[in-house]
Formats: sequence, structure tokens, C-alpha cells
Amino acid sequence: MHRFSPGLQKATLEALERLGVEVVLGEKVVSHDDADARQVVLTSGKTVECDCYVDCTGQRPSSGVLASLAPAAISESGHIRVKPTLQILDDSLPHIYACGDVADTHTPNPNARSAMTQAETVADNILLAIRGKGPRYTYAPRWGDGLIKLTLGLDRSILQFWDGKNELLFPSVDKDVALLADGAWKNMGAEPFTDTGPMKEGLCYGLDGSTTIDSSFQD
Ligand SMILES: Cc1cc2nc3c(=O)[nH]c(=O)nc-3n(C[C@H](O)[C@H](O)[C@H](O)COP(=O)(O)OP(=O)(O)OC[C@H]3O[C@@H](n4cnc5c(N)ncnc54)[C@H](O)[C@@H]3O)c2cc1C
Repeated sequence: MHRFSPGLQKATLEALERLGVEVVLGEKVVSHDDADARQVVLTSGKTVECDCYVDCTGQRPSSGVLASLAPAAISESGHIRVKPTLQILDDSLPHIYACGDVADTHTPNPNARSAMTQAETVADNILLAIRGKGPRYTYAPRWGDGLIKLTLGLDRSILQFWDGKNELLFPSVDKDVALLADGAWKNMGAEPFTDTGPMKEGLCYGLDGSTTIDSSFQD
């Protein structure tokens, strides 16, 4: 979480520890090749037993589609270099745009909010092009674009504003285990889905690995 604020890093660490997660910092996994071994080896030589290993590190932007077409528009990190209009940085290809995580927009904390704003900018410029006009809409990162809400377990979250220098953190208690998914449906102009189908019984998974049948689900 190196690109997030110190306060958010601290809150995340505390939340994970509260949930009983063992957090190992300052180490890298150096070996996880043997799936049957069910363990990973860290730089210090320490081994960690695991049932399932999920590698979330080292992702690169998927910009390969432009590799042969406009190689100069791809940065060393693999991001697509863009102009403020979000046209790719290649004057010979004025009708190709890039936005979102893959684009190098200098957004301090790329997220869905900034990606959507950029998508609107691109769409508006394409509409101008269809009318035979040049692009005039531009994107520049705004302070609020870096806002992020991080869930810290099923019932807590923290809201962060961070401009690279100053941070504001708003911890909150959340009751909606669906993580406000209905709001996302509404934002996209859709009716939130409600599952009204019959359900005879519910299988409850306990944090301790136990399972119980919950008859309160009966219709
Ligand atoms: C664990 C995690 C948690 C996050 N939490 C939040 C959050 O709470 N709030 C928030 O605002 N943001 C959050 N983000 C960031 C957010 O998900 C991204 O910023 C956002 O999805 C970027 O949108 P995008 O459309 O640019 O990219 P994506 O959502 O990654 O979409 C890109 C799509 O393009 C497809 N694709 C890739 N290459 C090609 C190709 N060559 N041809 C065709 N299709 C291709 C991919 O399969 C993918 O479907 C989170 C990200 C992660 C990983």
C-alpha cells in the first residue's frame, strides 16, 4: 500500500491485526513454485504455511495493444502517455484515446472515480470528432479524485482524502454488508437487483471455519 497515505496504511494494519491476520512487512516472497509444498519462502529465509497463495504484486498496465502501433506512447512503467485531451501522445494517431488505470494521467491515486471522469472526457471528445471538430475537453487530476473508501472488515471502513502531502481520514461503522452495491447500480441508471427468490435454508460460514444451517432463511 505504498502509494496510500501513512494514516491509511496504519489503519489498515490495525484492522488486519484486529481481524487476526498475521501481517509480514519488509519482506518479499522469493519462492512459491511448488504448489504441493503449501508454503512460501520469504527473503529472510522464513517460511509461511498457506492453503492458497494469491500473488497480488508486480502487475503492469495492459498496454501491449499499442506496442507496435505507437511504442513511443508507452512509458517505462507500461502506462500509455496521453495529452490533456487524453489522446495518446502520438500526433500521427489523433483518434486514439486512453483513460483509466492504463493511462499516465498523473492522478496521484488512480481509482474508479478518476477513471470515470476521464472516460467522460474521452467520450465528449469523440462526440466532437464525430461532428468534425477537434478535441477541446481536457482532464487534469482534481484533489477529490484521490478520495478512496477502504473497507476494513465487514462492518468498518475508512474514507481517505490524500493529495500526497495532506491526509484526511474518516473512520466509520458500516452496516451494509453488500458494500453499497445498490448505489453503484443506481449510479449507472439501473434498478438495484433484489433477490426475492425462495430460499429453504442458509449455510453460514463462521470465521472459525465452522458451518451451520440457519433456518431463519426459510420462506
Ligand atoms: C483490490 C482493488 C480495490 C480497489 N478498490 C477501489 C475502490 O474502493 N474505489 C475505487 O474508486 N477504486 C478502487 N480500485 C481501483 C479501480 O478498480 C480502478 O482504478 C478502476 O477499475 C480503473 O478502471 P479501468 O476501466 O481503467 O480499468 P479496469 O477496471 O482494470 O478495466 C480494464 C478492462 O480492460 C480489459 N483489458 C485489458 N487489456 C485489454 C485488451 N488488450 N483488450 C481488451 N480488453 C482489455 C481488462 O480485462 C479489464 O476488464 C481498486 C482496485 C483494486 C485492484
